[in-house]
Amino acid sequence: MREQLASKGGSPAIPPGTIKPWPPVDDTDRRMVLDSLESTTHTFGPNCAALQDEFAAWNGNRFALTTNSGTAALHMAMVAAECGCGDEVIVPAYSWSSSATCVMQHNANPVFVDIDFGTMNIAVDQIEEAITPKTKAIIVVHLHGLPVDMEPVMAIAEKHGLRVIEDACQAHGARYQQRKVGRLGHCAAFSLNQNKCLCSGEGGMFVTDDEAMFRRARTLWSFGEEVAPTGRRDYHVYAMGWMYRNNDLTAAWGRAQLKKLDHYLEVQKENAACLTAELAGTPALLLPMAPEGYDHNWYNY
Ligand SMILES: *Cc1c(COP(=O)(O)O)cnc(C)c1O
Repeated sequence: MREQLASKGGSPAIPPGTIKPWPPVDDTDRRMVLDSLESTTHTFGPNCAALQDEFAAWNGNRFALTTNSGTAALHMAMVAAECGCGDEVIVPAYSWSSSATCVMQHNANPVFVDIDFGTMNIAVDQIEEAITPKTKAIIVVHLHGLPVDMEPVMAIAEKHGLRVIEDACQAHGARYQQRKVGRLGHCAAFSLNQNKCLCSGEGGMFVTDDEAMFRRARTLWSFGEEVAPTGRRDYHVYAMGWMYRNNDLTAAWGRAQLKKLDHYLEVQKENAACLTAELAGTPALLLPMAPEGYDHNWYNY
């Protein structure tokens, strides 16, 4: 037993400087960021287009849009799923605020469904009783990097004609029945902010395999214009739009980090196993777990 807590003046168990800043930075990051800085395009540029392509290839999606936040990508998902004024969207009662506020940003109403205590994810068996004639979509959150039980969710969505949006902001690389998150519902949002497994400072990614959803999301993304990222802009506004695009410098850093993401996830898995072994048997402590068929990414553990 320690004589005195560090907060009361005792010596800290973990000396200052032991915990390294996230994410680690090496020469790849330095070179790619400086190359972008020395280039002539600082708005949506070649690194943005490449980050979209590389992320889509890494995750196995047909379409990706690089955004300035995960929250922006969630708002785009509302439009992709054609949610509007007065519609209801089912969301888990426990998540980051953006999973619910994105619904209100598009004048729809979040309907909260409780979570399952074992997984901390949405209680799938309580979704159906929350559905009304106004329900348009279900937002599932793979919280802390543990995927939601998607098979029954997709069956419910199919039965009621609903869209399923994955909030995968914490779940890069996590898998359900061997399939990566971001490919399990109809569209998904990832975050690239400083706390996340893939970091570019701030940033996000909207992904889908559905071309019509991709086009709708893209309209909101860039001022309501309908231009393809690499196409010529006509400067006509066709819908209510925001400015959710990413910039080249940030995307350059995101690309450098993406090259190392699989390695980071491996290390995270080893660290999680070590932590679980050390903590096993601690009274009254519930540890995160991955049921059979789930690959946790151990974010936040
Ligand atoms: C981080 C996070 C977001 C928002 O991402 P930002 O990039 O910070 O906007 C949304 N949902 C969840 C579950 C998150 O963890």
